[in-house]
Amino acid sequence: MKIKKVGNRGILFTFQQLKESHYDCVTNIYVINAKEHFFICDTYIGPYYVKQVKKYLEDNFGKKKYIAFNSHGHWDHIWGNSEFKDDIIISHELCKEFIDKYADKALSINKEQFAKDDIEIVLPNITFSEKIRFEEDGVEFFYSPGHSKDSASCYDYQDNTLFVGDNIDDPIPYFMCWNKLDVYKRTLERYLDINADIVVQSHGDIKDNNLIKDNIAYIDKLIKKEKIEFKDEDALKKHKVNMKCLKL
Ligand SMILES: [Zn+2]
Repeated sequence: MKIKKVGNRGILFTFQQLKESHYDCVTNIYVINAKEHFFICDTYIGPYYVKQVKKYLEDNFGKKKYIAFNSHGHWDHIWGNSEFKDDIIISHELCKEFIDKYADKALSINKEQFAKDDIEIVLPNITFSEKIRFEEDGVEFFYSPGHSKDSASCYDYQDNTLFVGDNIDDPIPYFMCWNKLDVYKRTLERYLDINADIVVQSHGDIKDNNLIKDNIAYIDKLIKKEKIEFKDEDALKKHKVNMKCLKL
């Protein structure tokens, strides 16, 4: 686990388990150390890892109430929810629905390779349709469909930092699994309107608006069915996965 300070009050915990598999990408838990709460953006692949994050937070900043957030329902973002059973777990309403529908199957497929401890699927206990705001903490969660239909984002408007989950990837989106590309593009344009100083993605390093622009350019080419040139092997590999997921 790598730990990195982000802006004034963000902490990025980066894990390697998926990097060492065919997924070939790191995965983050992003934490906002706010006034009243620790906001935990995504719970990764189980309690074993979340416990390390909690220990670090409590050792360094003392006890505070937790609010966990699921950016979407994919298994690598929700397996640690059980660590927040007695706290608030927030997601978009579709995310809760998707976890309820698909999490058991994803667990049976992935647990042998990735589960370090017993995984209990725990559903979000507060959902929103457009957005939900925590005024005293300066944090807002909002619906941002794109990577998946149930995707949402977290905006720390006190620190002007935007957590985008899997909607943004480097150098292009990855595992695109929803084919409403025009909606995806609008979500990313909305990100640009926010004009955050720091962009935090789930599966890579801290970035800025330039990466959002690159991701928009890629999606735009897919919409217009233009030929795309790839700078490197990594981008081409991600593109091929997208074509498969989108069935294009
Ligand atoms: Zn995902």
